[in-house]
Amino acid sequence: MIRLAGRLAALIGALMLPAAAAAVAPAAHQIRVRIEPDTRFLEGRDSIRFDAPRAATLVLSARFRVDSLVVDTRRIEVPDKPADGFQRITLPAARRIDLGWSGTLAPLDQNLDHRHTLSYAEPASGKQGTFLPSGSGWYPAVDESLERYSLELDLPADQRGLVPGRLVEERLAHGRYRARFEFRQPAEGIALMAGPYRIEERRVRTAAGNDLRLRTYFHPEIAGLASGYLDSIAGYLDLYERWIGAYPFSEFSVVSSPTPTGFGMPTLTYLGIDVLRLPFIRATSLGHEVLHNWWGNGVYPDYARGNWSEGLTTFMADYAYRERESPEAAAAARLAWLRDYAAMPPGDDAPLVRFTSRTHGASQIVGYNKSAMLFFMLRDRIGEAAFDRGLRAFWNAQRFRIASWDDLRRAFEHASGQDLAGFFEQWLDRTGVPELRIADAHAVATGAGWRLSVTLAQGAPAYVLSVPLAVRTAGGEITRRVELSRERGTAVIDLPAEPLEVALDPELRLLRRLAAAEAPPILRDAMLAEHPRLITPTADAAVEAAARDLAASLLERAPAERKPASMQLVVGLHADIDAWLAREAMASRPATLAATRGSAQVWTARAGDGHILVLVSVRDAQSLAALSAPLPHYGRESYLVFEGARMIERGTWPVKSWGQVLH
Ligand SMILES: [Zn+2]
Repeated sequence: MIRLAGRLAALIGALMLPAAAAAVAPAAHQIRVRIEPDTRFLEGRDSIRFDAPRAATLVLSARFRVDSLVVDTRRIEVPDKPADGFQRITLPAARRIDLGWSGTLAPLDQNLDHRHTLSYAEPASGKQGTFLPSGSGWYPAVDESLERYSLELDLPADQRGLVPGRLVEERLAHGRYRARFEFRQPAEGIALMAGPYRIEERRVRTAAGNDLRLRTYFHPEIAGLASGYLDSIAGYLDLYERWIGAYPFSEFSVVSSPTPTGFGMPTLTYLGIDVLRLPFIRATSLGHEVLHNWWGNGVYPDYARGNWSEGLTTFMADYAYRERESPEAAAAARLAWLRDYAAMPPGDDAPLVRFTSRTHGASQIVGYNKSAMLFFMLRDRIGEAAFDRGLRAFWNAQRFRIASWDDLRRAFEHASGQDLAGFFEQWLDRTGVPELRIADAHAVATGAGWRLSVTLAQGAPAYVLSVPLAVRTAGGEITRRVELSRERGTAVIDLPAEPLEVALDPELRLLRRLAAAEAPPILRDAMLAEHPRLITPTADAAVEAAARDLAASLLERAPAERKPASMQLVVGLHADIDAWLAREAMASRPATLAATRGSAQVWTARAGDGHILVLVSVRDAQSLAALSAPLPHYGRESYLVFEGARMIERGTWPVKSWGQVLH
């Protein structure tokens, strides 16, 4: 389930409407909504007000009937609605719109997989849970407008529910649960969640002196996890208040979902029950979601000009936690980013400035990993103090506004006193990353010590880089930064002792294409491959069918009978795989895999021509069928052993890290 954390981290923005009309004053909704999860019935009334009279288009799901519509004081006939999709109700200029609607929600499908949930925008309800995503048309949204709201929710007594915002009051009376919420900042839509929740609450005073209400809305079967989650939320709020500035809302809640989903919204995060049970969620994804209340829901990205919020959140959450762990853990995180990048076919790459939200593997590699690496390099360049000053100034200036990469750049320029136009331009606007290498290195003895000359080379057009060089000398290791702004440049370094070996950026502080020795093949190389091919040396209908299923769940593109393929997935029984390797004159089964046999073994290899091979060697067709679900979660591994669907061993091939030996 390792990939899940990354996926969860990916979800902010998935349901957001593009904030196209920032200049227009937000619409103000006053909504009362009654939901009966037993029958999936919803009935609502909305009173929408504008600061000044304006024409508006309301967007409502076609599953609802408009019961009444009054524009200012005039009753309006509602045009016929389409059979499905959305009804768009265009109205003349007005200051106030009153609309009543009702209908039946979709049944909640607990079997949806996560990828499906991401794109699934139907408002759905059931006894186990109700989820009405913003953008699903469950209330009459004002098209192309940010929205403020006050909302009163009416549910059966055994249900609890919420929307993002401040809880103003709640009461249990006459067999009903009622709660009223307010969201005063301009928001990008309203999402509503309900379920048979147990609520745990804690009040905390934060570092900035705010009194906050922290809550968990958990299904009874995970109610025991509540206090641990409340502890973690309090810890993250404290961390980010001290780092950035005061938390901009009055509460934060963690809400459980009966579907394996993961969404972040202002003031809350909505995570699957099984996800919340995973021990690492509190340590990683939760902090990421809390931080989105600053980046994403506190300052809105300018989607038309690129989404900076995922990269900055990944850098200050997921990556920052690794840095606190140890320098080695942080370097391993950077290696994982660069390895993922190296696995991406060049045709899938795109400039970071074009990233808006995660839609497939490649967009995550650019929008999250490349973006986070940009912030890492920026901090290296301007120093931690200026970096943090820039963050705080950006937050103070842009709270509840739409901000672009340019606004971020200006904040860091002001904080550092440096012109960063070239830095941002080369990492945002260009496709690809530098391909750097040591073209030549030699040393001569001088009277006082040694003089080392290192010639660096990169592709055209050149990036402007400050390249870390590590030199292993007879007297220890020395690191120097070398400026490179052309396709080729020679640096001269005076050393007190004889240099023995020189390595280019061994700590992986630069976003660059890893050399083959630095990027041993991992499963992700196969998953993203441009021209995959499936080979099944076992002639057995059940094995062949299971092999096709595995290819469908593992690969982003369907395999084809194409030559040359950029990747080969070879699937068969143990003896057939060994025979195939011998016939193709390939290296035999790695010794690492001999000790633990398991029911299935999977490993990556590089063929003589450089293309990637993935070998899947199984005991029988059943062992093969068991791999389809778990295997796609292990993109960062080079080899795995399974017993049934359970992974019992995994690892990556060793990286050759040190560089050129000097003679
Ligand atoms: Zn995120």
